[in-house]
Amino acid sequence: MSIRSFHPPQRTLMGPGPSDVSPRVLEALARPTLGHLDPAFVGMMDEVKSLLKYAFRTENELTMPVSAPGSAGMETCFVNLVEPGDKVVVCQNGVFGARMKENVERCGGIPVMVQGEWGRAVDPSMLDDALKANPDAKIAAFVHAETSTGAQSDAAQLVEIAHRHDCLAIVDAVTSLGGSPVKVDEWKIDAIYSGTQKCLSCTPGLSPVSFGTRALEKIKNRKTRVQSWFMDLNLVMGYWGGSARRAYHHTAPVNALYGLHEALVMLMEEGLEHSWARHAGNHLALRAGLEAMGLSFIVPEAERLPQLNAVSIPQGVDDATVRAMLLSDWQLEIGAGLGVMAGKVWRIGLMGHASSRKNVLLCLSALDDVLSRLKAPIERGVAVDAALQVLEGRSGDCLDQGLIAK
Ligand SMILES: *Cc1c(COP(=O)(O)O)cnc(C)c1O
Repeated sequence: MSIRSFHPPQRTLMGPGPSDVSPRVLEALARPTLGHLDPAFVGMMDEVKSLLKYAFRTENELTMPVSAPGSAGMETCFVNLVEPGDKVVVCQNGVFGARMKENVERCGGIPVMVQGEWGRAVDPSMLDDALKANPDAKIAAFVHAETSTGAQSDAAQLVEIAHRHDCLAIVDAVTSLGGSPVKVDEWKIDAIYSGTQKCLSCTPGLSPVSFGTRALEKIKNRKTRVQSWFMDLNLVMGYWGGSARRAYHHTAPVNALYGLHEALVMLMEEGLEHSWARHAGNHLALRAGLEAMGLSFIVPEAERLPQLNAVSIPQGVDDATVRAMLLSDWQLEIGAGLGVMAGKVWRIGLMGHASSRKNVLLCLSALDDVLSRLKAPIERGVAVDAALQVLEGRSGDCLDQGLIAK
């Protein structure tokens, strides 16, 4: 056997996730493993919960990371809140709404789909109409930041509509948390899940979740058992809950949690608002460069997600060739289109540690180089300059300019 240690190449990850992990997080992962009931570890778990409350802007006691990726956070919300026969209105404006539908069905619920346009925010009036037409619905679910298209929906308004119709709101914040405003308490979100590998500068594999009191009540008053043993919050809380006596449920991914702890400490050091402003500012610089080059965004300006930039692939340019050249010649990963957008768009992420001035300029230089060599119809040699003008004029900071007011 000639299999030896695996040494991955050093890439720059500017796709839809995973995104670049901070060296501080990678270093934290390599610290000594503790027993998962060791008092020192349990103390760190409590800090992770506090730090997640900070990131989610919530006082919800039931705020913790699920020991699995974002998809498991999604599933945790649905298996605990949806009982057989429950009607759930699901807004779909990209790939991830379809997964919510699958989850509802597998829980024995009845999905009612609100089909929106891909590349646009969820239309609040469509949700309102669907809830009017389905007065027996119990839950409304939507994706705050649709990573498949780069569109951002108005979570506060959608939750308000759900509540007006006496529904709980489940929100997917996998790509928004840490990168753009997510305010769980202010927006009265009932159940929310996220992921560590998008805007938190952390490795993939954990899913922060938070549940409010109305959601907890529904879980406590279930008539049927949660069909997933692993994700049943009644059981998980024996381990992650606040009580002094922690009962073994599963072995926490100890080192992965060191990584999340470090990532959240970094977020607090930077300040949540400053992280939002950094994502907004770097997006504007990248946008200036991409547009100067002649590439166009697929999402209307007011609905764009700063951390996920979806642009149309120029006529006659082969998607896979470009991405392969970026990877081999620039060690740079950008994302391909998903679903109906496959082959038509690139998705350029500026998430977490990857949202930096350095990466904006690297990505524009790399695209300029590769597209020029392929004789693509772009404006050559202007993108970096256009981005620099935005970066230099930005001393006022996006915080002051109200760019992140939402
Ligand atoms: C990435 C993503 C997920 C799934 O997260 P995984 O960690 O890949 O399981 C769910 N929803 C959205 C919006 C995402 O971007």
